[in-house]
Amino acid sequence: MRKNLLDFSYEELVEEFAKLGLEKFRVDQVWDWIYKKKVFNFDEMTNLSKEQRNALGERFFIGIPELIDMQVSKIDKTTKFLWKLEDGNTIESVLLFHPDRVTACISSQVGCPAKCAFCATGQSGYVRNLTAGEITAQIIAMEKERKVNIGNIVYMGMGEPLLNYEEVVKSVRILNHKKSKNISMRRISISTVGIPEKIIDLAKDLPEVKLAISLHAPTNFKRDIIVPMNKKYSVEEIIHAAKEYQKITKNRVTFEYILIREFNDYVDDAEKLADLLKGMGAYVNLIPVNPVPSTGDIKMERPHHWMIERFKEVLDKRNIENEIRKEKGTDIDAACGQLRRRYTTKA
Ligand code: SAH
Repeated sequence: MRKNLLDFSYEELVEEFAKLGLEKFRVDQVWDWIYKKKVFNFDEMTNLSKEQRNALGERFFIGIPELIDMQVSKIDKTTKFLWKLEDGNTIESVLLFHPDRVTACISSQVGCPAKCAFCATGQSGYVRNLTAGEITAQIIAMEKERKVNIGNIVYMGMGEPLLNYEEVVKSVRILNHKKSKNISMRRISISTVGIPEKIIDLAKDLPEVKLAISLHAPTNFKRDIIVPMNKKYSVEEIIHAAKEYQKITKNRVTFEYILIREFNDYVDDAEKLADLLKGMGAYVNLIPVNPVPSTGDIKMERPHHWMIERFKEVLDKRNIENEIRKEKGTDIDAACGQLRRRYTTKA
C-alpha cells in the first residue's frame, strides 16, 4: 500500500529514498516542491527524472485533504476550512489575518475526547488521532488555497493535542525543519485542556514552543462542571505542572479563560484566578464564550460587557497580565467545531 509522504520526518525520508536509490538531496527537492512551491503531484516535480517520479508515485502519495467548504469573513477575512481526509472523516482549520502576519489554527484529532461543555467539537464525539502528515497538510493546503504564507501556528482547532502527543510533536518538527516551512518554534503554540505529565514532556521535547492551558475556571468545583477532564487532572495538578514547565522552559504560560455569564464571570472568580497564578509568568486570555447549545446545565451565554471589564480590572489590579480576546470571524461559524457539526448533522 502506498504511504503518505507527509507522515515522514526528514530523517525517515532520507532512509526511505535510499531504498529507492535516491540520494539525500532528492528529499530536499521533493520537500521544496511540497512545502515551498505547494506542488502536490510527483509528475510536476520537473527536476526529477520520469523514472524517479514513477518510483516515488508507486511507493507514496501526498496526502492533501479535499476542500469541502470554505467560509470567508467579510469583516476581517478570517477563513474557515472544512477538509475531507483520506478515510472520509472531516476536520476544520482556520486562517486569521493580522496586520503583520497570518496565523493558522489547526486540528490535531478528528473530534475530541475531552467533551468540554462549551465546545462544539467535543459534542460531536471522538473519532481518531490525526497523523503528523494530516496535521501539517492543513498548513500547506491553506497556503495553496489562499495564496498566503503562514507565519504563526496554533494547535487550537479540533482535538486535544497532548492526547495525540507523538504525532503532534512530529508535525511541529516537520514544520520547523529548515528544508520545509522553517517556521520558528517560538511562533508555534500548543493549547491543551491540561494533561500534567504531557505538559512536562512538552517542556523537555519542544522547550521553545509556546504553551496555552485552557483553564476556564479557578476552582475544581466550577471546572468540573464545564471541563469533564478536570475530574482526572485537577486545577492544582495543572498549575503545578505549569510551574514545572516554566522552570524548565522559562516561557510565559498563557491561560485561556472562557467567560460564561453568571457562571465564572464574578469578581470572586477573578480573585481566585489571580491567587492561583500569582508569582508565575502567566498571561490570561479572556474569551467571552461563543454561544453554542450547551450539553450540561450551564447556559453558554456571554457575560454583560461591564462584567467582562470588571473581571479584567481585578486581574489588572493584581498584576496578572491579561487581555480580552478580540473576536474574529463573527459572521462565519466561528466557534471551534461548528462548521463540521453543521455538515455532520445535515448529512
Ligand atoms: N483541546 C485544546 C485545543 C482545542 S480548544 C484545548 O482545550 O485547549 C481551543 C480553544 O478554543 C480553547 O481555549 C477552548 O476552550 C476554546 N473554545 C472552544 N469552544 C469555545 C467556545 N464556544 N467559545 C469560546 N472559545 C471556545
